[in-house]
Amino acid sequence: MLVAETVDQVRIAVRSARAAGKSVGFVPTMGALHAGHRSLMDASRRECDFHIVSIFVNPTQFGPHEDLARYPRPRDADLELCRTAGIDLVFYPPVEVMYPPNYRTFVEVAGLSSLLEGAVRPGHFRGVATVVTKLLLIAGADRAYFGQKDYQQQTIIRVMVSELNLPTEIRVCPTLRDPDGLAMSSRNAYLTPEQRQAGLSLSRALHLAQRIVDSGEQSVTTIERAMHEILAGTPGVEPDYAVLRHPDTLEELTEILPAMVALIAARVGTTRLIDNQVLQVEL
Ligand code: AMP
Repeated sequence: MLVAETVDQVRIAVRSARAAGKSVGFVPTMGALHAGHRSLMDASRRECDFHIVSIFVNPTQFGPHEDLARYPRPRDADLELCRTAGIDLVFYPPVEVMYPPNYRTFVEVAGLSSLLEGAVRPGHFRGVATVVTKLLLIAGADRAYFGQKDYQQQTIIRVMVSELNLPTEIRVCPTLRDPDGLAMSSRNAYLTPEQRQAGLSLSRALHLAQRIVDSGEQSVTTIERAMHEILAGTPGVEPDYAVLRHPDTLEELTEILPAMVALIAARVGTTRLIDNQVLQVEL
């Protein structure tokens, strides 16, 4: 497994993989890798021949009061996980490689970037869209793998790749969860055991939403309120939002649709957790 720090090293390795007739899969991450990331690598292993993972804690997607400085960076364990997963190339760039001094070029998907997570974290999706565009152009992969865990992120990336005609197919993989239902996340490492218990309220609220839909409830606000009450009723949990949206456009809903996405964000102590579930409706 090659660990590359420069763009040229990646391009040379990809060129020789292609010359050998190999298809290329790419998994962008911020590291602190867990089984959720591993599932994206496994998807690349199933569908491609040469596998790239990037590990880069992207400063432009963090707000001034967010956790950039304390975001976990377990380099050795991350490289070991990639090695075990059969990854061929890890792109581990220093910040100056991605953002040289006076860097000034940004990508923004208007509208979608200011809703929900974008409303709570201004500038976040501009940073995400910028770094993902750069990484996709550096890797030049046939397919890139993202998690449904970050639902709004994958929505924005799919729109961006389509509108910018980027030549990589975007594949979205299901959210991996711990056995108790908590969606796996690098940020779960911040949680105390009590906070982790409180964090289970997110997946409980999503389950409840599906059950209410199954019972034939026709009011969007009733379902949203029920999710919100689960969060707000859990000590130590501060809900940011708990909503039902259109699964492609993330627009607000006035009526129940055959497929909807329930999206939740809440703070547990100083840690922000997000989760979502696509709800299927028998109409
Ligand atoms: P991150 O390192 O948090 O930026 O995540 C890198 C990629 O892994 C993103 O596409 C995430 O959506 C995905 N990911 C994170 N957590 C999970 C999970 N629990 N299940 C599946 N994919 C995930």
